[in-house]
Amino acid sequence: MITIDGSEGEGGGQVLRYAAALSLLTGEPFTIAKIRGGRAKPGLMRQHVTAIEAAAAVGSAECSGLAVGSTELTFRPGAVMPGEYHFAIGTAGSTALVVQTVLVPLMLADAPSRIVIEGGTHAASAPPFEFLAHTLLPVLARMGPRLSVTLERHGFFPRGGGRIVLEIAPAPLAPIACIERGAFRSGKVEALIAGIPFDIADRELKAARKVLADWPEDAFGPVQLPADHGPGNALLITAECDHVTEVMSAFGQIGIPAERLAKTAAKRMAGYLASGAFAGPYLQDQLLLPFAMAGAGAFTTVKLSEHTRTAAALIARFTGREFAFNEDAEGRLLASLG
Ligand code: ATP
Repeated sequence: MITIDGSEGEGGGQVLRYAAALSLLTGEPFTIAKIRGGRAKPGLMRQHVTAIEAAAAVGSAECSGLAVGSTELTFRPGAVMPGEYHFAIGTAGSTALVVQTVLVPLMLADAPSRIVIEGGTHAASAPPFEFLAHTLLPVLARMGPRLSVTLERHGFFPRGGGRIVLEIAPAPLAPIACIERGAFRSGKVEALIAGIPFDIADRELKAARKVLADWPEDAFGPVQLPADHGPGNALLITAECDHVTEVMSAFGQIGIPAERLAKTAAKRMAGYLASGAFAGPYLQDQLLLPFAMAGAGAFTTVKLSEHTRTAAALIARFTGREFAFNEDAEGRLLASLG
């Protein structure tokens, strides 16, 4: 039984999701205390409960202490059972983070799966749908499995109500090296608007243009969604390169000026493009688990994030596999294993 202090490292929901995924992959039970101890309001929120319910359902696990507000739980995994699943978060909690919990175990299962997840698809501090579809899954598919995700309905904070469908055809994971991202092919900046004033999209696009001044004018455009998908707003900044597509995002929030959100996301994209690295700041921690299960691999990335440090430490505890992080000859961070 592995014992985890949920307040260590990044100290949020990721510690728990990674522990559950690693438990399914290794067969090791775990107990965790001080769940989300690094957050202002510790304990499980609805989205974390659903992520662990999903891991328990997919992995025939026994789990005690699983309730909103709980700060401790114990998880005993059984056999991973691929198949058809439906998980509803019931809030705008992130559908992508439920995917993060069950994806790698199901990529290594012995039959395909189809998973419907309802909740948030475009909300703060989590991957938007487009990051899953265009950034993460295409990289993981290079390791062997066939992966696809479709968006049936958007879900914004606070209403939720989004719906995605994930399909996984498993295969053994082959190690890959993601060193060069190749040439920049095209950039696109989309301001999604659902049931809120159009002028917000305009303001976001103008602010992003100031930062990404060398992107052509027709790369910037609003996307009007049906009003009943909202109210909500997201800014999606996509850079397609030869070997990877990165998506940086911002999500409309009451009390934060649209210009500020857009500028932050655009600067993140500019920083990523200037770095020459393959993986941006969020792809970084999300590549560690599949790379660890492949037993080897390498990728270049931007500055090490606390999420990555935390994920690497958990992987080492469950599997004994340790990533090395070094600067390469071009000054990029190189994450490597094996
Ligand atoms: P908490 O509420 O405790 O912060 P959480 O479960 O919502 O918990 P984290 O523990 O912070 O969130 O984990 C967030 C995960 O989402 C990380 O894997 C991070 O890389 C990813 N992520 C956050 N923002 C983005 C983004 N804009 N694009 C892609 N991935 C993101």
